[in-house]
Amino acid sequence: MALDHYAVFGHPIGHSKSPAIHAQFADQTGQKIAYTACEVPPGCLEVAVKAFRAGGGQGLNLTVPLKELGFALAQELTPRARLAGAVNTLCWREERLLGDNTDGIGLIRDLTLNLKLTLTGRRVLILGAGGAARGILGPLLEQRPIQLALANRTLKRAQELAARFAALGEISVFGLADLAGHRFDLIINATSASLHGELPPLPDDLLIPGGACYDLMYAAQPTAFVRWGLEHGAALSVDGLGMLVEQAAEAFWLWRGVRPKTRPVIQTLRAALGRTP
Ligand code: NAP
Repeated sequence: MALDHYAVFGHPIGHSKSPAIHAQFADQTGQKIAYTACEVPPGCLEVAVKAFRAGGGQGLNLTVPLKELGFALAQELTPRARLAGAVNTLCWREERLLGDNTDGIGLIRDLTLNLKLTLTGRRVLILGAGGAARGILGPLLEQRPIQLALANRTLKRAQELAARFAALGEISVFGLADLAGHRFDLIINATSASLHGELPPLPDDLLIPGGACYDLMYAAQPTAFVRWGLEHGAALSVDGLGMLVEQAAEAFWLWRGVRPKTRPVIQTLRAALGRTP
């Protein structure tokens, strides 16, 4: 039987885990799909999407730096993609290109289902106001935290983002230097500082004792932010590998109408990361 073809486009794409994740989903659910990773520079996205479809492709994931371009390219958008202003999943509905954003729901599923955290009534702080923060703000607000705060190195970016989501709920905005005296139950690191082994400067008592820290970035070793959480009284301090698998599962669901089990895939990936030199 012919395989339905899916792919992830990005630039660079060499280290993408998406082909391994979707291969495991397909194996587990008996879905006959092929999923490949393609290097697509931003200027080539539109041509690459059209060529993929002309070749019989069924659906795409987009990663850095293509998510905003994907938003502009989509002919229809899900409400969550419209809100985020970015698209990480594409498929065709009667030949119209539909854009979705599964990053936020991926984070919420990892936090609430896998890690068993309650967000309702809690004080939640997001560090960073880039593309990743934009994808998670709406789904976090839907969980009804008592406070959702956004702190960014460049204050103006955080203010603009809070204004964009104002209709959904209040977001309190901070500069990184203004966090002293405030305390949170959950701190989510959505900065790219961890990529360079760095950490935004944070007050020592920013996290309530027994609170949780979550770094959207994932790595073989604990990231600088995960280590910060462990050193500052967190009961739970974890990276974003679970979010990666959950956002992929949501895309798989959109494409195939089947929800794969994520826990064994997270475990396999974690074990493989541990073997990465
Ligand atoms: P981005 O759009 O480039 O935004 C980067 C953010 O980090 C900005 O708010 C920037 O502040 C801040 N920043 C960078 N270096 C900093 C430093 N040294 N100190 C303080 N703030 C700093 O990046 P993004 O796309 O949002 O990605 C952010 C992270 O999320 C990345 O690590 C990415 O891998 C991760 N991510 C993970 C998943 C997942 O599935 N697990 C999904 C999406 C993203 P300024 O505004 O001041 O420049």
